[in-house]
Amino acid sequence: MWRWTMEAVFTAAVTAALSAGGCDGVKSRQEETRMADGGKPMDVEWDKRLTPEQYCILREKGTEKAFTGKHWDNHRKGTYRCAGCGQVLFRSGDKYDSGTGWPSYMRPAEDAAVDTSPDDSLGRQRTEVLCSRCGGHLGHVFEDGPEPTGLRYCINSAALEFEEAGE
Ligand SMILES: [Zn+2]
Repeated sequence: MWRWTMEAVFTAAVTAALSAGGCDGVKSRQEETRMADGGKPMDVEWDKRLTPEQYCILREKGTEKAFTGKHWDNHRKGTYRCAGCGQVLFRSGDKYDSGTGWPSYMRPAEDAAVDTSPDDSLGRQRTEVLCSRCGGHLGHVFEDGPEPTGLRYCINSAALEFEEAGE
């Protein structure tokens, strides 16, 4: 238990240090909206539908600061949907306390719910996690999670909407 926890904390510290300020999306957001005139209507739609923080993360691959999101310490039972399109992405039963300050899951709700893509930004090799329906950026997956999967889906709270399970 100790080993992956410490690795997760270390990864979180590095990630936080490297990605601070990842949500300064105002300028690029305006540029993207202008580009939308040239045939990217989806971006205008995204712009209207999402909060600035959600837009930054889902569309500009930003990272929220650790321990600031609304879901990292959420222990209630329910499902986590994509803040962009509403697809069910994760379930509370697969969520665990990673110590990183981001909601962490050992698996997605369904394998088909997420896509992955190599991410070499920040000078490191990571695996990006995206919503399979709308392509929104969710976070990254690391191979230092708990058994049985050994995976840690490290997801931004702002990319998720929590839906509490009924009584
Ligand atoms: Zn989505």
